[in-house]
Amino acid sequence: MDAADLIWMNGEFVAWEDAKVHVLTHGLHYGTGVFEGVRCYDTESKGPAVFRHEDHIDRLFTSAELYYMPMPFSREQVRDATLELIGRNGLRSCYIRPLVYRGYGTMGLFPLDAPVDVAIAVWEWGSYLGDEGKKNGVRARVSSWRRISSDSLIPQAKASGQYLNSILAKIESHQTGYEEAILLDERGFVCEGTGENLFVVRDGVIVTPPITASILGGINRSAVIQIARDLGYEIVERDIARAELYLCDELYCTGTAAELTPIREVDDHTIGSGRPGEVTLAVQTAFEDALHGRSDRYADWLDPVPAH
Ligand code: PMP
Repeated sequence: MDAADLIWMNGEFVAWEDAKVHVLTHGLHYGTGVFEGVRCYDTESKGPAVFRHEDHIDRLFTSAELYYMPMPFSREQVRDATLELIGRNGLRSCYIRPLVYRGYGTMGLFPLDAPVDVAIAVWEWGSYLGDEGKKNGVRARVSSWRRISSDSLIPQAKASGQYLNSILAKIESHQTGYEEAILLDERGFVCEGTGENLFVVRDGVIVTPPITASILGGINRSAVIQIARDLGYEIVERDIARAELYLCDELYCTGTAAELTPIREVDDHTIGSGRPGEVTLAVQTAFEDALHGRSDRYADWLDPVPAH
């Protein structure tokens, strides 16, 4: 991991190596935290700029509310702190990790007496599934683990403890020779990757699981839906059967960490020609243009870092 100089913790800028918590921090024991993954790009039009910043902050606040965590800072304070942190670390492009967690003070499962702490870290981080994966596609398997369901947790929240589900699937996929896992829901329909939403292309139509499925409503999912519609593609949000993954012409996933990564194989079935397809490449190119500030149409999605 590429350390930066400073981390923001509860309103203070502290040195990276001093950004520590007590071992009895509540969130460390019970997963009582919510977080975001955001990216800042060194854009051609606006210099360093955060992609869909306000949407990520909104989702952070929603996740916190869903887990009964009163935010001790306003949306504006979190936004300003993030922009200042990027500037003070002298970064032009980075991954951004805001974390809201139950801190040190009480133990036991009733968390409401524990403080709510907030930290924001930024560091340089390449694509989650690798540059090679972004270009040529990755190999995925359907996980033997089902995606968390809404009758036991909250799939729409980005909450720390919930990621044990993704982690089991991720480890299984790596240990069995794949780069990524695809999780089904308890009915057997396709949900998402360990940290990405999924899109299936067949006969020129793009299909993705609906927001009412047990998925995280990805911010890049909504960006890529809009981009695909603007390019003239038909997008349908509906349940996807497992076999549709094997029968489709193209498959790709989206997420802040993975950006838009094609999937070239699922459970040893080659997808299409085994190379990223025409629709994937068209959407990926337009999406990359939006991320890197080469697109006037999506210029509003970028929140520039003020000069320091
Ligand atoms: N699903 C899960 C489980 C995730 O962790 C992520 C990453 N935040 C996504 C989907 C994609 O969301 P986004 O596009 O907002 O990064």
